[in-house]
Amino acid sequence: MTEAIGICWINGALVPAEQATISVYDHGLLYGDGIFEGIRFYARKVFKLAEHLERLSMSAQAIALELPYDQQAIEHAVIKVMTAFQEEDGYLRLVVTRGDGPMGLDPRGCHQPNMIIIADRLSMVSAEVRNKGARLMIASTRRLPVDGLDPRIKSLNYLNQILARIEANQAGADEAILLNQMGRVAEGTADNIFVVTKGELLTPPVTEGALEGITRNLIIELACQADIPVRETPLAPYDLYTANECFLTGTGAELIPVAEIDGRRITSCPGPVFEELEKRYQTTIQNLG
Ligand code: PMP
Repeated sequence: MTEAIGICWINGALVPAEQATISVYDHGLLYGDGIFEGIRFYARKVFKLAEHLERLSMSAQAIALELPYDQQAIEHAVIKVMTAFQEEDGYLRLVVTRGDGPMGLDPRGCHQPNMIIIADRLSMVSAEVRNKGARLMIASTRRLPVDGLDPRIKSLNYLNQILARIEANQAGADEAILLNQMGRVAEGTADNIFVVTKGELLTPPVTEGALEGITRNLIIELACQADIPVRETPLAPYDLYTANECFLTGTGAELIPVAEIDGRRITSCPGPVFEELEKRYQTTIQNLG
């Protein structure tokens, strides 16, 4: 266990994260009824805060949950917990749950949502994996159908991804890729996926079952600036196996090059397109206003 340094803002109070508590009657715990965001800060500047708060607010709207604080109050709380954190770089986890309520999943009994913001470290993969590239496997667990639970809702229901992650752990892989119910590529357990084929950067459209990643959108933007042709298109496992390059993107993941998928070596890892985008990504985070 690493040293506990997490700080938590919980319903307006700032406490060491291990002292923050939530009721066993919270419907976020009982039913996964809630939403969240993961945000990074670099040199005490919050990265893409507006985009994350926008997605949080859309997720809340989609599940008919009224955020207990307005945008400005949430921004203040984010700054407060980040400032209280002892390191310059870190990760923020915003969680809003339906709140405490009686047994039974009907949300009408929950009158006050709980809001939590944790500041802590987050390292998704080791430095070695970052250097050499990740080994992926395609999980047999499928991403939930888009018409079952819309992947744009960043909800507290991650069992689907956790089952895929367990498969990756058992296979000795660094990350799992989930396919949608059509057998096409959706995304990683907490990251989006890109490939480079014939000089083109490709990623599945979010309608294939992926979260609309904020890092994904930034990478598309950076590729356009770098004159790298980029296209959203459905991908099959074949397209991953035969790619010239492959990488993962996410707030937690940042950019992770992929070396291998189901035992197939990716031609170039880290490849030239990855390196160009990684350079531009680093420049972006070093120049936060
Ligand atoms: N997909 C899933 C399922 C995720 O949980 C995440 C992490 N938020 C991502 C993709 C990457 O999204 P973002 O770049 O906004 O962090």
